Amino acid sequence: MVNERMYGLGNEPSAIRELFAYGLVRKAEIGADNVFDFSIGNPSVPAPDAVKQAALDLLDQPAVSLHGYSPAAGVPEVRAIIAESIRRRFGVPASAEHIYMTVGAAASIAISLSAVTQPGDEVVVISPFFPEYKVWIETAGCTCVEVPAHVPDFQLDIDALAAAIGPKTSAVIINTPNNPVGAVYSRANLEALADLLAAKEVELGRELFLISDEPYREIVYEGIEVPYVPSVYARTIVCYSYSKSLSLPGERIGYVFVSDAMDDADRVFAAVAGAGRALGYICAPVLFQRVIAACVDEPSDVDAYAENRALLTEGLSALGYEYVEPQGAFYLWVRALEDDAQAFSDRAKKHELLIVPSDSFGVGGWVRISYCIARETIVNSMPAFKALMESYRG
Ligand code: PLP
Repeated sequence: MVNERMYGLGNEPSAIRELFAYGLVRKAEIGADNVFDFSIGNPSVPAPDAVKQAALDLLDQPAVSLHGYSPAAGVPEVRAIIAESIRRRFGVPASAEHIYMTVGAAASIAISLSAVTQPGDEVVVISPFFPEYKVWIETAGCTCVEVPAHVPDFQLDIDALAAAIGPKTSAVIINTPNNPVGAVYSRANLEALADLLAAKEVELGRELFLISDEPYREIVYEGIEVPYVPSVYARTIVCYSYSKSLSLPGERIGYVFVSDAMDDADRVFAAVAGAGRALGYICAPVLFQRVIAACVDEPSDVDAYAENRALLTEGLSALGYEYVEPQGAFYLWVRALEDDAQAFSDRAKKHELLIVPSDSFGVGGWVRISYCIARETIVNSMPAFKALMESYRG
């Protein structure tokens, strides 16, 4: 007999993937140029040339060692290079022994949750939130506690967090730059969170972990600062991925970094390694571990996203749409034109606009528009957005 929960998860694709799949069918029916697919966060910028060159160079090496297993936590030299890069870029202590290579942020988060929670614990997320958090939290046997972000700036609402963190809380997950709203948490906001967590640790007599999900760290606009979370709160576990920063989502490569600033970092890292083992996340793809070592400081190309962001926000604001100005990532959070976001997304579909209803992210009344797409799609979609707006004005 199959596991009913797993059956449910496998049988019902996420709303985002469903919309993406619908888009593929629709494109085959009416032509790709006639469908405006804003559904998914698949980077539209190619990976840097340095990635291709590194992969080609590596493929000339002896196959047995190149394609052989690495230690479970990753290739030691790769972990050392990443740790050195963290020290240099962010000025925090970071040792290779606290880096665990993973198949992307998804695995990093699932591993971290398993490492620092007990079944029955609560894990706090900030809504709107990346939908898979809930799946991973519940798979760890925990309850997902949703705390709304502060409106209208979508920063962390410290008072609401204070009310939500209780005797069963073991971790808080944050994501900055944020999917889906594009907010980047300010240093002051993160410091207020750190103060709250420190005070709650004393009050509740238990450790509180901050899981910092950072696949969009380098994708920011107008030079905004993205504070490095371990420099603000010691008990931080960074879940990083190269899916977005180097446009490598299909290669499945990232890492967990257990902050050295944590007094018991070795013990926490051992639990991370144990969780990786228990979940089968060992020995991340070795070719791409080595590619990352060669490209660790390769800059992210954000110019195309910055241009798309400007085109989209200018176009939609001229049409009268309300949205949150994104500071980072590549998503625009737009107010739906009716309370029911699903109904709004369904109506948008009639205009060949594929936009994700906010219900997927745990809140009502908004939609997410991914702008990691071809520039022309944005330009050509404007008449459809206009018609959609007009359909509500009657
Ligand atoms: N966290 C957030 C906020 C994301 O948007 C994504 C992917 O879109 C992930 C985690 C998963 O990233 P990865 O592809 O590295 O597993």
